[in-house]
Amino acid sequence: DRLAHALAAGQRDRRRVAVFFIDLDGFGRINDSLGHDLGDELLRQVAGRLRASCHASDEPPLPGPRSEVARMGGDEFTVLLSAMTEADEAVALARRILTMFARHFTLGSHEVFVTPSIGIAVSPDDGDDAETLLTHADTAMYEAKTQGGNGYQLYSRSMNTTALQRLTLESDLRRALEREELVLHYQPIVDTTSGAIVGAEALVRWRHPTLGLLMPGEFIAIAEENGLIVSVGDWVLRTACAQNRAWQRAGLPPIRVVVNLSGRQLRQGTLTDTVQAALEASGLEPRWLGLELTESMLMERQHEGVAALQALRAMGLRLSIDDFGTGYSSLSYLKHFPVDTLKIDRCFVRDLTSVPDDAAITSAIIAMAHALDLKVVAEGVETEGHLTFLRSQGCDEVQGHLLGRPVEEDRFAEWLARPRPGLRSRRPAERSA
Ligand code: C2E
Ligand code: MG
Ligand code: MG
Repeated sequence: DRLAHALAAGQRDRRRVAVFFIDLDGFGRINDSLGHDLGDELLRQVAGRLRASCHASDEPPLPGPRSEVARMGGDEFTVLLSAMTEADEAVALARRILTMFARHFTLGSHEVFVTPSIGIAVSPDDGDDAETLLTHADTAMYEAKTQGGNGYQLYSRSMNTTALQRLTLESDLRRALEREELVLHYQPIVDTTSGAIVGAEALVRWRHPTLGLLMPGEFIAIAEENGLIVSVGDWVLRTACAQNRAWQRAGLPPIRVVVNLSGRQLRQGTLTDTVQAALEASGLEPRWLGLELTESMLMERQHEGVAALQALRAMGLRLSIDDFGTGYSSLSYLKHFPVDTLKIDRCFVRDLTSVPDDAAITSAIIAMAHALDLKVVAEGVETEGHLTFLRSQGCDEVQGHLLGRPVEEDRFAEWLARPRPGLRSRRPAERSA
């Protein structure tokens, strides 16, 4: 939440925000040998030193950069450095932290040394949203660890995409499925009127053994090039269906899970069989599954694709067009495709409240979609302002950080289990009058 605020403020003031991902080297060993009580004590002292590094007296007074420390769990900490002008300011802080750890810690009668591995990602170059920045800081932290620990690394795009790594990514991906390294995160889709969670978008992530958590932007394109996307897509469909059925069996309110398709899956000609198999294996009724396609996928394969989509639609699946507004956005073709939902791309939503054109386009898309008897979902809803506008325009469903980020299945189940939350109570910080 703080990070999101800092990013929003940074965008306004054209200032940078840095995220540090810090993991202690060898903490597990200390914890195991000295016991958990002393381990906890060490974490408290580490937190104290991190805070002290952030508020060192040589830090320029306001309005210079501001920093905050958080513990993410275990021996992982993050530092948020906001309102920076130069990335150097982050490096200076990293150095200060390392100096602070050069001194031993006293735990009872023991003197121990523990060092940090620090990964740093800086907005806007390394990402402009919280999830991306954290992921990239995490990747950089892994790099710092690989270099032997007790150091810092700035994230660089090349960490994920050098030719060499790309090569290994490609062969790693072949084994990722067997090794069960892929995971799905689920992001709530909320009914604009009732505030109830009515769906979840399944978003794939890859827990890479050395690179950390990879986002789809970092490997889907590779999977598309080498054809592995078909196996990845099968896995996503089977997992999402099984998960949705498991939630239903657990007595949670039934929702629709939507899965993103890639063009290659549609071209393959086996999509209907794959979907049918996933439904049968899980016992999920087709009406609880949705598929998202992009405009370009539909344009590419007018004829072959349509038959498959028609078959799926006839089975009772819900089909939506993802990222609507970024492609051809042709009204006439909508009539040729058996879709029932348009998903407005988040680039329009982002500037809804500041760019009049985007507000006009969004209203027009909603009105047009309704005239064609299509439902409208808006993605990337981040602020109350976005929500208020979309609600006033009759947008049916919303998805975005305001309503909930993509999370693991357990966390999502907790959200589902809450008595009809309503859009407002998702924000506990607000007045509860
Ligand atoms: P998408 O289908 O448009 O998914 C929405 C993306 O927007 C997700 O990114 C989500 O985390 C992000 N997002 C959601 N709410 C907000 C918000 O309020 N603000 C901002 N800034 N972003 C928000 P993610 O998970 O990185 O996915 C990126 C893209 O990767 C997806 O875009 C989709 O095209 C593709 N993808 C994800 N999972 C799969 C999959 O299983 N198969 C295929 N073929 N593609 C996938
Ligand atoms: Mg999508
Ligand atoms: Mg989208």
